[in-house]
Amino acid sequence: MFDAQQMAGALGSLKAAADIAKAVMGAKVDFAVKEQVMSIQQSLLEAQQAMLAMQEAMADANKRARQAEEALVAANDWAKEKERYKLFTPYTGAVVYAIKESEARGEVPHYICTNCYEQRRKSILSYAKLPDGWYSLRCSACKREAPTNFRSAGQAKYPPE
Ligand SMILES: [Zn+2]
Repeated sequence: MFDAQQMAGALGSLKAAADIAKAVMGAKVDFAVKEQVMSIQQSLLEAQQAMLAMQEAMADANKRARQAEEALVAANDWAKEKERYKLFTPYTGAVVYAIKESEARGEVPHYICTNCYEQRRKSILSYAKLPDGWYSLRCSACKREAPTNFRSAGQAKYPPE
């Protein structure tokens, strides 16, 4: 595999060859020689362009590889994180993911959004008072609400394990 340093070296060599060709063109030589050198210059130019295109493609491939690696790390992190939560129904009709007590690691009990969970995103639900006075559990990321059927804010609790 060609790396960036080799690529820069090859481009440097091509430039050196182009400089020599230029010097020959400036010297007092036969027209026949100049004709040959012009053809060399054309080939050098084409090689340079090809190398530059390759350099660009290489940078692009490196960027994609980095992105894929980051996505993999994020997926692995989420795979571990999601296991800390359990589906739970704290209120009739309100399904959430709740942090398991055995996985809390010092975190207070809290609920996260099931919709965001399915999209590999952790979004903590908060109690929100609706205009009619009832409270719901609201996701600030996707705006979903789950009813609590209470007129006061509750307190998240650990699900039974
Ligand atoms: Zn959500």
